[in-house]
Amino acid sequence: MNARGALFRVSVALAAALALAGGVRALRPMPDVSESLYLFGTMVEIEIHGVDDATARAAIAAVDAHLETLHRDWHAWRPGELESLNAAIAAGAPFTVDAPMAAVLTQGRALACASDGLFDPAIGALVEAWGFHADTLPEGDPPPAAEIARLVAAHPRMTDLTISGREVRSSNPAVQLDLGAYAKGAALDLAEADLRAAGITDAVLNAGGGVQVMGRHGARPWRVAIRDPFAWGVVAALELQPGESLHTSGNYERYLEAGGLRFSHILDPRSGRPVTDIVSVSVLAQNGALADAAATALSVAGAKDWPRIAAQMGVENVLMITGAGEIFATPAMRARLAPVGGDFPAPVSLVDLPKVSAPRCD
Ligand code: ADP
Ligand code: MG
Repeated sequence: MNARGALFRVSVALAAALALAGGVRALRPMPDVSESLYLFGTMVEIEIHGVDDATARAAIAAVDAHLETLHRDWHAWRPGELESLNAAIAAGAPFTVDAPMAAVLTQGRALACASDGLFDPAIGALVEAWGFHADTLPEGDPPPAAEIARLVAAHPRMTDLTISGREVRSSNPAVQLDLGAYAKGAALDLAEADLRAAGITDAVLNAGGGVQVMGRHGARPWRVAIRDPFAWGVVAALELQPGESLHTSGNYERYLEAGGLRFSHILDPRSGRPVTDIVSVSVLAQNGALADAAATALSVAGAKDWPRIAAQMGVENVLMITGAGEIFATPAMRARLAPVGGDFPAPVSLVDLPKVSAPRCD
């Protein structure tokens, strides 16, 4: 993961300023407390409303410590719990993980199943082959076609995992876990729980491409905006209701550049190759891990198939921008969007989701 800043933070701050301007007369409202932390390979901004400074700072410190731990435990290519689990899987051995890891893997397995495997954190070996297991942008040529073909043929899938309690085993030694496509969302879900436990009811957490809100900003909802992948500006602004998460996947900040082409860090597990025609997908949902996983899955599904996958995953609010600059949205999402400074950058085409039943994977 990296700092992708798909959310225009200034608009969050703007909403805060408006809310303060509204209520200054009677009781002086407590000033908001905000801190930026460098965590999970990205900037995480936490803004807390309605409590005293000491309470807010203590809550932020708890989140900071927790996310540090998760970053180490869930890291795909540095020593830590996930690396040990991956080594055990490759060796065909069972491995006992801690409870949060068991929970995030169980959720990832269910999300992968619902996405027909278009989101599948078991493809870590492919991600590594494309050079994305590094803090910097990869350089050099794409992996040879034969290597890609070999990795795809091994067919690693989350549903190869059996998670019983805290014991994890894989029926397929080619499974290599990389939680990058939903770790940020899952981590923000846990951070929200930390804030709640520390007595916070109104806050916004913003981690490059993912934002999660708790409660409201005084009399107003928290307000955010979705960045325009083609220009320095925003596509639209929207108000997030208490408990909502908005995640954006895009291939405009993390990619491999080779031979004049840009290869996205979002890979299609069926071909082993990067997604080509989708520039960004934003998903708004009640759960951060779901929104984050769905944004990745719908990028892979592409302009034709995304409505079916969205329906299977149970997400209703989707905004997609294609490489040709077309904007698609579900009617529910469109109803939430407000243009910023005039109009949307392109007409928004409405797409209804089909009625489908979720796939079953046991
Ligand atoms: P970001 O983390 O930049 O917000 P994503 O949420 O789309 O973007 O996650 C992309 C990351 O997820 C990649 O860097 C890689 O580690 C991993 N990944 C790539 N393709 C897939 C896929 N189809 N399913 C699951 N994980 C993927
Ligand atoms: Mg994602």
